[in-house]
Amino acid sequence: MYGGDIFAKWRDREITFIGEGVKAQFDNTQQTPLGFQWRGRHYEVLKMLHSAKNPEGHLQYLLLTDGGIFSLALKREESKADLCRSRWFLNFRVKDEREANSNGPNFSSSSIEMKGLLQGKELSPISLVPLLLANVAYYHGHLCPELAVGYRAALVAQEELGFSRHNAHNFFIVAENMTSAIEALQLITGCTIGNQNFFAYDLGKHVYYFGSYATAQEPGKALRLALTNLVVDLSPKGELGRRLFSGEANREEQKEYQQAINDAVQKILHLAPQDLFTKTRISLQPPRAGGHLDYTCCSHCGEVTVRGKCHLLENGFVCPVCFAKAKM
Ligand SMILES: [Zn+2]
Ligand SMILES: [Zn+2]
Repeated sequence: MYGGDIFAKWRDREITFIGEGVKAQFDNTQQTPLGFQWRGRHYEVLKMLHSAKNPEGHLQYLLLTDGGIFSLALKREESKADLCRSRWFLNFRVKDEREANSNGPNFSSSSIEMKGLLQGKELSPISLVPLLLANVAYYHGHLCPELAVGYRAALVAQEELGFSRHNAHNFFIVAENMTSAIEALQLITGCTIGNQNFFAYDLGKHVYYFGSYATAQEPGKALRLALTNLVVDLSPKGELGRRLFSGEANREEQKEYQQAINDAVQKILHLAPQDLFTKTRISLQPPRAGGHLDYTCCSHCGEVTVRGKCHLLENGFVCPVCFAKAKM
């Protein structure tokens, strides 16, 4: 698993997501960051604890600074003119012992998570996970067992079918649920709803199909993964569940629930693939994608609509919403 060993050292600490672009000073000869500016303060690098390239080829550094331990990444951005620009990105900060103990872990029930998301900076600290999953959790807003399931499924399929974000356009994914798992799958694989090669049908099952589009040279291949381990099931039942979701739970109960979430995530990350999923090679036709986007204005409401979704009536194209209203 990506970066697993180094991060295991920090497993029991907590991290706070930052996700902000920063200015950094880099020493070219030593190939190490010397310091960076964040929120009006300069952080001096005392020691580089770890550096690695993530699957996208971005350099990631774990740095001990005079203001704590930070994860800093150098991200290359490809521009249209084929020029590469690089930007420094502060991923997260590892809370130090003192902070972690005095504050206690922040609870994250769905309602509190939302609050954290809206406030932006107040995301719940989480126990440490591989950097790739940490990035997914930052995008998603929190870390949860379903997110970890999507992460594992994505990595298993990528390895089995030999795909990555670079050749994602040759692949498609079908998911039988609409949980947090599909966020991880899209972000890691690059097969997304927007790219029209991710299809989700909510059947409430952690079943995923990964397929490659057939070409003249190669027939399509597909893999079915089905979660067979109940490790994701930890929604609190009965009175405790009601208290947690209505926000009436006390701090102790909240802490306990958060601990259960963290434990489930760690379990999902460390189980062997065959203890999580059944894996079957199948043949599969890709679902039909939306295709080319040709726009027109609805002759009724005037709003921009994909032409293929419109109905052609005698007075011109009518969007599906106006068409449905007219039929009522
Ligand atoms: Zn989630
Ligand atoms: Zn209309």
